[in-house]
Amino acid sequence: MPPAPELETTLRGASLRVTRPRLAVLRAVRDHPHADTDSIIGAVRADLGEGSHQAVYDVLRVLTTAGLVRRIQPSGSVARYEARVGDNHHHLVCRSCGVIADVDCAVGETPCLTAADGQGFVIDEAEVVYWGLCPDCSTTSDSGRISRG
Ligand SMILES: [Zn+2]
Ligand SMILES: [Zn+2]
Repeated sequence: MPPAPELETTLRGASLRVTRPRLAVLRAVRDHPHADTDSIIGAVRADLGEGSHQAVYDVLRVLTTAGLVRRIQPSGSVARYEARVGDNHHHLVCRSCGVIADVDCAVGETPCLTAADGQGFVIDEAEVVYWGLCPDCSTTSDSGRISRG
């Protein structure tokens, strides 16, 4: 599969050298929003035919530091990665199956919540996670409870 030109442009725009592993990881994160590291490793291996854990971890760290990838980690979850960056969107997380969905920032700019008492801090971000049950889990939770017996 030839590397997508816009992925190369994205890497160069962040002053990063274009390498096959970086292209593969960036593509994997784009194609699988909120994927965990294992899923990304699987996608990279399917793409490149190789990809060690350490190599993928290293690339994820580089892309995250460069601001091309955002790392999120809801409480109780492993780290997840997404390529939707810079728009201060928030996440809906299902307590039952752990699925994560994007939700636009309620206000549209950071910080989207005003602290009741900022205590002199210069606040530039409010991390918001909406917890609940996804549509699938909220409709099947009754049968799930029965079959667990
Ligand atoms: Zn769910
Ligand atoms: Zn997201």
